[in-house]
Amino acid sequence: MTANGIPYRRPDRPVVVVCIDGGDPAYFTRGLADGIIPNVARFMREGFSALATGTVPSFTCPNNVSIVTGAAPSTHGISGNFYLDAATGQAVVMTGPELLRGTTVLAEFARAGARVVSIAAKDKLRRQIGKGLEVGEGNINFSSEKADRCTLAEHGIEQVLEFVGMPLPHMYSAELSLLVLEAGIRLLERDRPAIMYLSLTDYIQHKYAPGAAEANRFYAAIDAAFGRLDALEAVVALTADHGMNDVAKPDGSPNVIWLQDILDQEFGSGDTKVICPITDYFIAHHGALGGFVRVWCRGGRATPAAIVRLAQGLPGIEAALDREAVCRLYDLPADREGDVAVIAKATVCIGGAEADHDLSELGGFRLRSHGAPSEATVPFVINRPLRAGYQRRAASGPLRNHQIFDFAINGVAA
Ligand SMILES: [Zn+2]
Repeated sequence: MTANGIPYRRPDRPVVVVCIDGGDPAYFTRGLADGIIPNVARFMREGFSALATGTVPSFTCPNNVSIVTGAAPSTHGISGNFYLDAATGQAVVMTGPELLRGTTVLAEFARAGARVVSIAAKDKLRRQIGKGLEVGEGNINFSSEKADRCTLAEHGIEQVLEFVGMPLPHMYSAELSLLVLEAGIRLLERDRPAIMYLSLTDYIQHKYAPGAAEANRFYAAIDAAFGRLDALEAVVALTADHGMNDVAKPDGSPNVIWLQDILDQEFGSGDTKVICPITDYFIAHHGALGGFVRVWCRGGRATPAAIVRLAQGLPGIEAALDREAVCRLYDLPADREGDVAVIAKATVCIGGAEADHDLSELGGFRLRSHGAPSEATVPFVINRPLRAGYQRRAASGPLRNHQIFDFAINGVAA
């Protein structure tokens, strides 16, 4: 079986890949120090553990799609949650399966007759990850966010809440992730699918720093679930879509560069359009503020070179790159890229116009967010040792989070 040029063997035991959304390596480091993640500690000791690089921009959709395709955005086309359709001037949501190019490891295994289960916390991901995955015949694809509305026809499963014995979780809760894991464990027990993809939500990481009581409680709970998956004799592979950084000032207010306001002042209102590709309906997570934005030139005044010059001079900006440079550096699809990409330093986030961001739902928490290369380092942990060839590949690097299916399926010693 081949997906996007990578050959995969038929695994001799179930392979479970977990994407710990927002699972910055600092949470594992702190969890190990606090002794609350004994199963992950054992995987690291007896299996394989490294740091990997995720897709930039370090957002949820591009990285989840990179993981399930085993490819970079230049291949799969998903480089954010939104892009600007230059012809119409409208922001287009990039979470539809029709915008995903090529195929996924999940769809190809199902097509080859293997049993495949995909469970996402967020429903926006469920459809995209499930592109081409024919449900039914044991193949399942649903989200915990809409676990109360599953049908055999659309999701390959029904009555999920009864099956897992949990109430429908709130969209802003740890349970939205824990239901994904619980359902995965129950389905592994019941059906023993060949391939399972479990994608969590970053609600906890957006709200709580490593070591906070709530963060440690969550990590202890997911660690217990990883232990149960391991006890069912599966290959368990853990990675993240992106990390997370505190981007608040000492007084607790968000450390934001309102880029649209700055560009409007320089070039005139309407001359440029800033798109924040982190934008989604989970605004209590991040207020649509992240470390990577795109700027399109819409009028006649601003040029990409002038925007790059202006942005590079702003304190808190790590880099401003024109389309060609950012696509080359991060392997992005040029047709969905802005004229200029602006990237923040680790302690800063970038917004559009201040008036367009609703920060009321942040609820008094310090803003923690992601999007820049500074949040693109993620864990890469497998509960079993690697074969020599894969050990060599990992050591020669750079290891990417989108190689996790390849490593977990092809790289694990028998
Ligand atoms: Zn995420």
